[in-house]
Amino acid sequence: MSEGREPAPEAVWLVAANVVRWRRYGDLGQELRPGTKAYRGGTKVYVIDTYAGMGHQQLTTVGRGRHSRRFITIDTATRHLHTFRAQLVYSPAVISRSAGTGIPPGGRERTEELAALLERIAREERHAHHGAPHPVPCRCHECLTAAEAAEEGAGDGDRVSPA
Ligand SMILES: [Zn+2]
Repeated sequence: MSEGREPAPEAVWLVAANVVRWRRYGDLGQELRPGTKAYRGGTKVYVIDTYAGMGHQQLTTVGRGRHSRRFITIDTATRHLHTFRAQLVYSPAVISRSAGTGIPPGGRERTEELAALLERIAREERHAHHGAPHPVPCRCHECLTAAEAAEEGAGDGDRVSPA
């Protein structure tokens, strides 16, 4: 039952994530902007380094840029990403950019631990970063997913997490 291709020897475990559709913007986060300056919303990126000394609030990412659609390496706020998960990466372009960064090559388990940590930080930061309530209406990742959960869960209990 163990068919399927074996990972190529040079494949590496990295944390993958997606860029939020909308981010809060401005001093108090009352404006909304699509994606980030460098990435379109929804773009898949790989985390190749974190700033542990800054509480992992900033990450170095590799992904296809908003304009060129070519791979770029750029620092991104953790709160602008979501759905962090461990992934075995085969892309030579991504692997070469990840080589020699602050995250030593790790196995699946350690990568999953980092993904869970970054997910938690991203969620906290989406609420805490601007130090002000979300605009009304808001389309930031937290508010969009809360609205979707409310629609899906309408009538079967309260699965919406408190804002
Ligand atoms: Zn919001």
